Amino acid sequence: MLTTHATEKKANSIWKLHPAYSGSALHEQLAANEYKTVEELARQRSRALRSLLEYCYDLVPYYKEVFERLKIRRRHLREPGILQEIPILEKAMVAANADKLRPLYTAPDQRVTKTTRTSGTTGQPTIIHHDKRSMGMFPWLKQRELRWFRYDPMGTLLSIRPDVEQARAPDGDLLKKREILKLDSWPYTAELFQTGRSWGFINTNTIQDQVELLNKLKPNYLIMQSSGLEFISLQEISGEAKNNLRAVQGISNTLTPNMRAQVENALNVPVHQDYGLNEIGLVAARCPEGGRYHVHEEHCLVEIVDERSLKCVPGSTGRLVVTSLSNYAMPLLRYDADDLAEAVEGNCVCGRTLASFGAVHGRYRRTAFLPEGTFQRWAELQAAMYELAKNNLATVRKYQAYQDLTGAMELRIDCDEDIFIALRESCLQAYARAYKSNAAPPISVVRSKQFRGEMERKFQNFISEFTPESDL
Ligand SMILES: [Zn+2]
Repeated sequence: MLTTHATEKKANSIWKLHPAYSGSALHEQLAANEYKTVEELARQRSRALRSLLEYCYDLVPYYKEVFERLKIRRRHLREPGILQEIPILEKAMVAANADKLRPLYTAPDQRVTKTTRTSGTTGQPTIIHHDKRSMGMFPWLKQRELRWFRYDPMGTLLSIRPDVEQARAPDGDLLKKREILKLDSWPYTAELFQTGRSWGFINTNTIQDQVELLNKLKPNYLIMQSSGLEFISLQEISGEAKNNLRAVQGISNTLTPNMRAQVENALNVPVHQDYGLNEIGLVAARCPEGGRYHVHEEHCLVEIVDERSLKCVPGSTGRLVVTSLSNYAMPLLRYDADDLAEAVEGNCVCGRTLASFGAVHGRYRRTAFLPEGTFQRWAELQAAMYELAKNNLATVRKYQAYQDLTGAMELRIDCDEDIFIALRESCLQAYARAYKSNAAPPISVVRSKQFRGEMERKFQNFISEFTPESDL
């Protein structure tokens, strides 16, 4: 469906700003930016980039050295394509140069207001400093994303996620198991906008407890990790709860196309996604109309690059690299997000002109070193489970596939005893079908309630020893 500046203005009008922010122009500006001409957006982008690069040239020791080494002078910073000459900034380099990435001098509005940690578990997390503008963009971009998803701000929302990602309970403690957090508004947008009620529940609660709560609260919106949504979709959700549900959002883990189809079919609502990094904030949101991700260009720039750090040709997959335009407290230029995504070209069917990229294929380290065909075989196993679970709701609660260094798979399933024999048989058949050669590594399918890394922040429904790094 084609959207226009007029449709977005109308969609914005149901979001009521708190009086303290009612004069803010940003609310309308964001919607207007979505329909600027490609030339206007390019001008806006190069202005913002030039101001950031000049700042880095003058004040940030790490970049002063980079520019000197590359013989880039201040006057070169206005040249188009200059960004592509700057080396990619990997996570380990941020850790090694954390102090040198901070400016020598900061203006009052560039002082640090908050810190976040680098995501990922390789080595020590690095502290990222954010200034007021960088942090301040978050609720505005969150609202833009929810406008694109056509959320009704007066609806109710249930958020099932790790305790550290939930708002604090009234006593200041982290939310505990089986405890329900009740809030008067939605997390993340509450500072700016009036919204309906919301609830928080931690993701380590059993699937049965999660379903019971969903059936009791009957929220309009549900947000949780993609793997959790997958498990919820295999359960028996009451008709009333399903009727009330208007959309769900999958976060944190990769949502494969078959997981998306499973959740959308079972719950009969759209699944929305965004893309963000602790290091940057919200980067992009998935367009409900076109299925690609639109970049929040007011806040950051995204490049999809190949092995030589050059722009990927449309249709190919490369590394996702982000430049934060808002954060002057610790500028990150061409930061390697350690994710793979598809490069796209041309305009999106929705009519928005913001830069975009295609499907996100998840952590580079999680996918690059797997034996060929691993994901296809895992997808076949998932499809076999979905098929059986669909006709026997609430009999399959959770599963996890594990691949060892010989390529052998173990599939652990928490399911009812009477369905296990049939489930095991259809999984074995699916695995054999997916393996075209005769040299299939062995697979075992076991019934279990024990899963690897269950208490970690993110539950992984697929773990491989070829990629031992967890992508917390
Ligand atoms: Zn679009």
